[in-house]
Amino acid sequence: MEQIWAPWRMAYIGGDRGDGCVFCDKAASAEDEQNLVLLRGEKTFVLMNLYPYNNGHLLVVPKRHVGEMEDLNEEEMMELFKMTRKMVKVLGFFKPQGFNIGINIGSAAGAGIPGHFHIHIVPRWIGDTNFMPVFGDVRVISESLEGTYKKLKQSLADLF
Ligand SMILES: [Zn+2]
Repeated sequence: MEQIWAPWRMAYIGGDRGDGCVFCDKAASAEDEQNLVLLRGEKTFVLMNLYPYNNGHLLVVPKRHVGEMEDLNEEEMMELFKMTRKMVKVLGFFKPQGFNIGINIGSAAGAGIPGHFHIHIVPRWIGDTNFMPVFGDVRVISESLEGTYKKLKQSLADLF
C-alpha cells in the first residue's frame, strides 16, 4: 500500500498564495511538469494538489477563470466530468479503496481558491484518516509529489 500523508495542510493554512489566480497561471504556463499538471483537455486540465489531503489528490479545473458553477458552459461541464472519470481510472494505479470527489463553493465551504471553480478527487484507503505523520523537510515533500506525478503520468500513458 502507498503511504498516505497530509503534512502540507499546515503550509497551506499559513502560506501566502500571492496575487493573481494560481489556476489561470498554470493553465497558461508551458511548465506542466514543474506545475504538476498531469493532463490537458480542450477546455479543462488536471493537476495535482500542492497541499493534498491524501496521496494522489487531484484537481480538475476549467481553463477559463470561472468562479460560479452556474457560469460554466455545457462543454466545460461535460469535459470536467469526463476528465474526472478518466483520472479515477488513472488513480487505480494506487489501488485506492474509495474516492471522495467533491466541489467546495465559497470560502465558507472551504474553497482554497474560491475565484476559480475546481473539482477535487481524493483517493481513499481504509484507515487513512488515522495516519498523520509530521514532516518538516520541504525537500521530502517535493520529492513525494514528484514521485506521485511520475507514477500517474505512467499510468496515464499505460491507459490512454
Ligand atoms: Zn483563474
